[in-house]
Amino acid sequence: MKNIDTYDFTGKRALIRVDFNVPLDDNQNITDATRIDAALPTIRKILASGGSTILCSHLGRPKKIGEPKLSLRHLVPYLEKVLNTTVKFADDCMGQSAVDLSANLKPGEVLLLENLRYYEEEEGKARLPETATDEEKAAAKVRVKAAQKEFTKKLASYADCYVNDAYGTAHRAHASTALVAAYFPNDKMFGYLMNNEVSNITKVLHEAQHPFTAVLGGAKVSSKIEIINNLLSKVDNLIIGGGMMFTFIKAKGGKIGGSLVETEYLDLARNIMAGAEKLGVNIIIPSDAVAANAFADDAERQICKSDEIPDGWLGLDIGPDSIKHLSEVLLGSKTILWNGPMGVFEMCNFQKGTKEIALAIAGATANGAFSLVGGGDSVAAVNKFHLADKVSYVSTGGGAMLESIEGKVLPGVKAILED
Ligand code: AMP
Repeated sequence: MKNIDTYDFTGKRALIRVDFNVPLDDNQNITDATRIDAALPTIRKILASGGSTILCSHLGRPKKIGEPKLSLRHLVPYLEKVLNTTVKFADDCMGQSAVDLSANLKPGEVLLLENLRYYEEEEGKARLPETATDEEKAAAKVRVKAAQKEFTKKLASYADCYVNDAYGTAHRAHASTALVAAYFPNDKMFGYLMNNEVSNITKVLHEAQHPFTAVLGGAKVSSKIEIINNLLSKVDNLIIGGGMMFTFIKAKGGKIGGSLVETEYLDLARNIMAGAEKLGVNIIIPSDAVAANAFADDAERQICKSDEIPDGWLGLDIGPDSIKHLSEVLLGSKTILWNGPMGVFEMCNFQKGTKEIALAIAGATANGAFSLVGGGDSVAAVNKFHLADKVSYVSTGGGAMLESIEGKVLPGVKAILED
């Protein structure tokens, strides 16, 4: 793989896989441009280094070619504004316009290709009516896989080098994220966003300074099992908060009232706790909770032990003793990974636990710890409490980030790394 900082882009056309899957309103105006903004350093660097850029992305989940609502054309005005240049648009990523516009691209010019997912070849999955028979499905699978090769080859033919800056889709083995890299064995690299994500996650998972504390929260244990399994061999402390803590508390014989629980995961919770003990990992489950008599912000509240929640009450946040203890653990940590809120932080009366934990992580960071926050709701929480710039790194990778901390090598990352 090559390095974007040292690669010679002079006169080269760079195919950049970006994640421009931005939300649009009913009039196709961008309502949140974060994902576009995140790719700008990479685009600007290549343009400033004498290269030209061919931007390609998916937008939404189109069912067929040319769904007007999901056209990347809607992004052109914004891109022109932030890049301060004309953006050419190829209205069919596999059409003659894409061939001609890319062939004639001059240094400093920007071309945007139409939505890659207009073609089923991008994902490599046949779009069939629900009534399709098994034979039809099997035949379509073979057909799409063959067509995907042609799609990938054509996409590659537009450019001289390939840059993947779409971390948010790096966990998908699609044509533009994983397959096209093979056409650029000596001219493929990560963009800055992708590089940041990969290096910060690597720092936490493989180069952590100890003590290393992982804070997991959110609603369900079931969605975090692989993360827990991967982290157990790496961390010193594993804090389990949020709704998922009650499955562990119940597994230990505690009374959890009407709190969230996944009864089919009680044995698994016991196994996790036993596994942690064997490995010498300190599993920390909050000792007290803010219980409510209804799942509502204006419900009646009381602080109780997290394993003595009365019937008719449910734990919606961690309590003051837990906040104190968890904060001490966090402030004594050198590496912190946080995924998932400690309580129902969307409601004012149950946000304190999440806020205080975010503040403790910010405090530890100020004292020199390395902290990585990732996964939709924890990112929303640090943003809500204006602490995003007080932690070391906020991953915007969503599903890709979660798969990384499950220990998986993402197809989009592997395609760049492998020879
Ligand atoms: P997840 O997507 O699994 O990370 O879960 C995030 C959601 O978990 C957020 O919407 C929180 O409101 C919710 N959550 C956190 N703590 C609790 C709790 N004690 N009871 C119910 N929901 C919770």
